[in-house]
Amino acid sequence: MHNPPIPHVDSSDPEIAALIGGEARRQYEKARLIPSENYVSVAVLEASGTVLTNKYSEGYPGRRYYEGQQFIDPLETIARDRAKALFGVDHANVQPYSGTPANLAVYLAFAAPGDTIMGMALPMGGHLSHGWSVSATGKWFRAVQYGVRRDTGRVDLDEVRDLALKEHPKLIFCGGTAIPRTIDFPAFAAIAAEAGAILVADIAHIAGLIAGGAHPSPVGHAGVITTTTHKTLRGPRGAMIMSTAEHASALDRAVFPGLQGGPHNHTTAAIAVALHEAARPEFRDYAHQVVTNAKALAGALAARGYDLVSGGTDNHLILMDLTSSGIGGKPAAKALDRAGIETNYNTVPFDPRKPFDPSGLRLGTPAVTTRGLRAGHMEQIAAWIDEAITAAAKADETVLDRIAGEVRDLMSAFPAPGWTR
Ligand SMILES: *Cc1c(COP(=O)(O)O)cnc(C)c1O
Repeated sequence: MHNPPIPHVDSSDPEIAALIGGEARRQYEKARLIPSENYVSVAVLEASGTVLTNKYSEGYPGRRYYEGQQFIDPLETIARDRAKALFGVDHANVQPYSGTPANLAVYLAFAAPGDTIMGMALPMGGHLSHGWSVSATGKWFRAVQYGVRRDTGRVDLDEVRDLALKEHPKLIFCGGTAIPRTIDFPAFAAIAAEAGAILVADIAHIAGLIAGGAHPSPVGHAGVITTTTHKTLRGPRGAMIMSTAEHASALDRAVFPGLQGGPHNHTTAAIAVALHEAARPEFRDYAHQVVTNAKALAGALAARGYDLVSGGTDNHLILMDLTSSGIGGKPAAKALDRAGIETNYNTVPFDPRKPFDPSGLRLGTPAVTTRGLRAGHMEQIAAWIDEAITAAAKADETVLDRIAGEVRDLMSAFPAPGWTR
């Protein structure tokens, strides 16, 4: 059952309770390889589900528009201080509702509609909110987009520099959602300085790796850092904006009153709990194990002949290009899900197929590493992925169901926070 237990939902709303319970069990039984997902601790779940959700706190600690902040003020201050200490930044705002609103606040702080901004194109691995055309950020700003090189699958910093010097963007975003390689923050910082732009490092995917010392930090290079709290950082759904002292007040004003109303105090508490966990030595081990596992999985997939964008990984994420495997990303992801292995279909750079049926499969190790899987298990997972993709190409569903049972058996040996048998 769900852990912590939800007896009051069980009795008052069994329909919803059954769905929550079903999801908890699903998360326990599957090998969850979506790289933006994780399992938060029971402590984080508990903090998220508290009476803090009842309280309005528009403003910031010591400067609120509602009375009764005796407990919320110290709580938000602790969350901010923990973020500052963990990442080594001057300033942290823990109020953004999620990663996209955090990025919108950055635009509001430093750019006006119609201004030029620059980010990585979505199909190249960037995020919607970095100026992609269907996003408000692509509609309201003049977005110029960089990508990766066709031959290397990596960001071409010469191209980024040429584009920045030609277009003079106000903001340059680095980071993204499907980047399997280390982000060169010093190089981006040099380009931004030369172009007169503010560098925004969006570390949503890799925040936990940075906190745990398994990826270089943008601190000292990027004036503004945005992140979600729910990916490798293993906190609740939420976000933070961190910055140098210089940008602090512009960013705070942009979040409130510029973009948002009251902060979600229950989320702030859960962020504080997650940051406390991420400051422990065990979290360093976790972050390094995530990378070790991803490299092992990438190696095992490559050994089976699969093409990986950029040839492998430096972090938690692998992007498989299935072009030569004779199957699209979507049918492959659906077959894998049936086989108990959860991934997501994704475009690959220069994808000849359409975004709703692309050539790629995106996977990663943050969640299975939280469960306790080690490098030795990755060979087995790669074997299952290979077998499932091969079976899917032949529409062999019995094989998929057999694998699902084997996956369930493996995962049952590893406890999942959020579920007790
Ligand atoms: C996930 C992600 C976001 C957006 O987060 P949401 O909470 O889904 O809005 C923004 N930027 C990057 C790079 C991301 O990976």
